[in-house]
Amino acid sequence: MEIKEINILGEKYTIDESKELENKDGQCDWTTKEIKICNTLLIGGEGKLKNLELYKNSVIRHEIIHAILHESGIDTINHMHNEETIDWIARIFPKMLKIFKELDVEN
Ligand SMILES: [Zn+2]
Repeated sequence: MEIKEINILGEKYTIDESKELENKDGQCDWTTKEIKICNTLLIGGEGKLKNLELYKNSVIRHEIIHAILHESGIDTINHMHNEETIDWIARIFPKMLKIFKELDVEN
């Protein structure tokens, strides 16, 4: 499986979807600039979710948002950097982007 490279606010991160993780489907390590995605999607897998590609994309967005918050220096602000906020942003962002694109105001 290919390891993707992505620039996140000026820092080069890698996204590796072939990792074996324990008790989580994604992990963002800002010290090594690595985003790891569990190859078996433990939490959403095992028949719990039918569309694993959609779920994997949401996991990747979740971990990227962790990286963005860290690189923007607000990862230490607890009310901004908690799992619920990260999940909300990961879920709402595609819908927000669709609205912005429809209005041609995404830039
Ligand atoms: Zn998280």
